[in-house]
Amino acid sequence: MTKKASGSFCSFCGRSEKEVNMLISGVSADICDSCAEQAHQIIQESMGAKKNSPHAIDKSKLPDPKQIKEYLDGYIIGQDNAKRYLSVAVYNHYKRLLQEKDDDIEIEKSNIILVGPTGTGKTLLARTIAKLLHVPFAIVDATVLTEAGYVGEDIESILTRLLQASDYDVAAAERGIVFIDEIDKIARKSDNPSITRDVSGEGVQQGLLKLLEGSIVNVPPQGGRKHPDQKMIAVDTKNILFVCGGAFDGIERKIAQRLNTMVVGYASSKDNAKIDRDNLLQYVAPQDLKSYGLIPEIIGRLPILTYLDTLDRSALRRILTEPKNSIIRQYVKLFKMDDVTLTFDDEVYEYIVDKAIEYKLGARGLRSIVETIMMDAMFNIPSSKQPELHINREYAVEQLENSQLVKLKNSQ
Ligand code: ADP
Repeated sequence: MTKKASGSFCSFCGRSEKEVNMLISGVSADICDSCAEQAHQIIQESMGAKKNSPHAIDKSKLPDPKQIKEYLDGYIIGQDNAKRYLSVAVYNHYKRLLQEKDDDIEIEKSNIILVGPTGTGKTLLARTIAKLLHVPFAIVDATVLTEAGYVGEDIESILTRLLQASDYDVAAAERGIVFIDEIDKIARKSDNPSITRDVSGEGVQQGLLKLLEGSIVNVPPQGGRKHPDQKMIAVDTKNILFVCGGAFDGIERKIAQRLNTMVVGYASSKDNAKIDRDNLLQYVAPQDLKSYGLIPEIIGRLPILTYLDTLDRSALRRILTEPKNSIIRQYVKLFKMDDVTLTFDDEVYEYIVDKAIEYKLGARGLRSIVETIMMDAMFNIPSSKQPELHINREYAVEQLENSQLVKLKNSQ
């Protein structure tokens, strides 16, 4: 094959060499770059379809729920309840992919909804699961979605992300996991059907329904509406696992209301005493999501509902050092690449956690605080040829106090 001299035409689309970027010549035919690309896509799609057999997953290689949870324990601190639910749901999801189609029993899809304050590990849980199962994984933010035809992203763009994550291997994408973050932000804006259309709330929920329940959706491979003439790819969502996450700020009030009515109605005061009022999220039920503004059809398609705990002091302290890729381990590795052994006093960890709590930054803040403390050292050490670096509390306090982070906080 060679690049053809001018004056030739593509044997597939008939365009002349001048009209295309490149013309490749074979023995008795020529092909232009865009036809070659299209041919490649057709091959990929048909190969994908072949791979899409129920035997593509090997049951013996599938970890059981306990193994899934153990794996999650390596990366995520606490959140036992969510981990158990997620492990079972994912395991069942894959069993569902393997099910024999020879009887009347069909195991239904087990999409999941995680309710918990921001920064408590919802995304981390979904991401870690995807890593364990080696399936394509995409994170999408529900806040940018709008009903078709309005400013914002179409709902199908969710699947564009998944296709991109699987390198356009449709069969792989069709077994993937999608994490839809901030699902609470598409709650219905009010209980009364309003005169103006709720295009980013209820409209999006309606659009999501078909994705969640499983249907064949035409997906624009490049996403968005900027490429109106792109060839759509049909994706079957039947076997895609959807994990939704949301903070549902204020849902505790709805839970409390429900529990109170229940108590007034039937239960004895003894039951009432058992309610742990400081952690109402643990009692979250589908009807609370409905009072919050999710439509019943959506709730029905997210049958697994679980919650995440607020991270307390001891959890934050553990997050700093315990997970397999904890923040501290990452810095130790960074320095090791420069042949520097990095160590910390335990007191430094306590100080970092204190500051994260003081600034109300939660787990996300731990990283920015460590980054600030380590900034000067990361700048100076690589050129110093120093073999060791030990960080004590005094050094940490000094670095943080002199930083923009603290100056900003203090000026607020
Ligand atoms: P969200 O609940 O808002 O999706 P994320 O999962 O994105 O929160 O958490 C933000 C970051 O905080 C994570 O990348 C991780 O570093 C840290 N983190 C949060 N919760 C945990 C946890 N339970 N265990 C370990 N790290 C956590």
